[in-house]
Amino acid sequence: MEILKERHEVINFSPGPAKLPCQVLMQAQKDLTNYNGTGVSVMELSHRSQDFNKILTAAENDLRDLLDIPENYKVLFLQGGGTGQFSAVPCNLLNLKPGQTADYLVTGCWSAKAAKEAEKYGKVNYVFPKQNSYTNIPDQSEWNLNPEASYVYYCDNETVHGVEFQFIPETNGVPLVCDMSSNILTRKFDVSKFGVIFGGAQKNIGCAGCTVVIIREDLIGKQMSNTPTVFCYKTQVGNNSLYNTPPTYSIYIMGLVFRWKKEHGGVKAMEENSRQKSEMIYDIIDNSSGFFCCPVNKKCRSRTNVPFRIGNPDSHDVLEKKFIDMAAEQGMIQLKGHRSVGGIRVSLYNAVTVAETKLLAEFMKDFLAKHRN
Ligand code: PMP
Repeated sequence: MEILKERHEVINFSPGPAKLPCQVLMQAQKDLTNYNGTGVSVMELSHRSQDFNKILTAAENDLRDLLDIPENYKVLFLQGGGTGQFSAVPCNLLNLKPGQTADYLVTGCWSAKAAKEAEKYGKVNYVFPKQNSYTNIPDQSEWNLNPEASYVYYCDNETVHGVEFQFIPETNGVPLVCDMSSNILTRKFDVSKFGVIFGGAQKNIGCAGCTVVIIREDLIGKQMSNTPTVFCYKTQVGNNSLYNTPPTYSIYIMGLVFRWKKEHGGVKAMEENSRQKSEMIYDIIDNSSGFFCCPVNKKCRSRTNVPFRIGNPDSHDVLEKKFIDMAAEQGMIQLKGHRSVGGIRVSLYNAVTVAETKLLAEFMKDFLAKHRN
């Protein structure tokens, strides 16, 4: 029980790798030295063993249940992170149409990086002009989609800038590719609207090391001839993610997290918690008369990463440092904004509870009362 006692003194608002449910860590602690009576650690299981196969199959089935993934979609568990998929996506999909062009919606640094990577392999059409700051999603009437594109790419939730789509883009039949690294499993959505969905595990689905990729079957097999084999969807699908050694421990943790989510009301409950937690923090920001300031347009504010500044430009640095230090004294950690934007960022992934978020909300109210002029 030591692990529980120590952890109760800390609330981890990290953007990722992020908090894992305590129940998952307790189970992992048990399985660390002797998995399911096998006498070996879960980390020591061969990826070709029956025991690991059960772990892999259960993880896939539970994810299929949680997201209601249709039969004509394949699920892969790969290495290489979200960044690996920035290359894998163009390698596997640019060939779908002769022009080898892809549409990219750039709404923050992660979609910008993905677009830049795709430029190595083909033509990238930027669907709207570069934003001065990533705080908005231009209205769909201003989008310049190319009907001949092989795919349309976007990032559902920009983790650094806190910009989240509240709708699924309409692409008129062009396959839609989505990076859901930081909001997958936080709300219900229709998988059948997508060609490819991917997400790194280290925020909402487990520990770092594994990337989930969900692919519509008919898009598989058109990869460029120089596609690295580990990133070839066809090869990995044909080998059930076991072409090379998969991140076995990450897949195991992921399986525990999926089970935890199912036991805790599934995606519907995660969505409701996500709404409650983010509204709690945005309400304080919006009722602080500008003391706390979130620069993101209300129509596309993220439910999982809430960025804000404190005070005015002259007092930002002092007040934000004080906020971070005082929060840490109360056990609330990892609240510093990304180095490229500064300020504060509160990450509210599924393992962060409503009760923990309430404690932060109380702290924010108290800080506001003490520091506003
Ligand atoms: N996409 C998003 C939305 C992310 O937040 C991140 C990482 N934080 C990445 C991609 C890159 O993932 P990785 O570091 O696993 O390559």
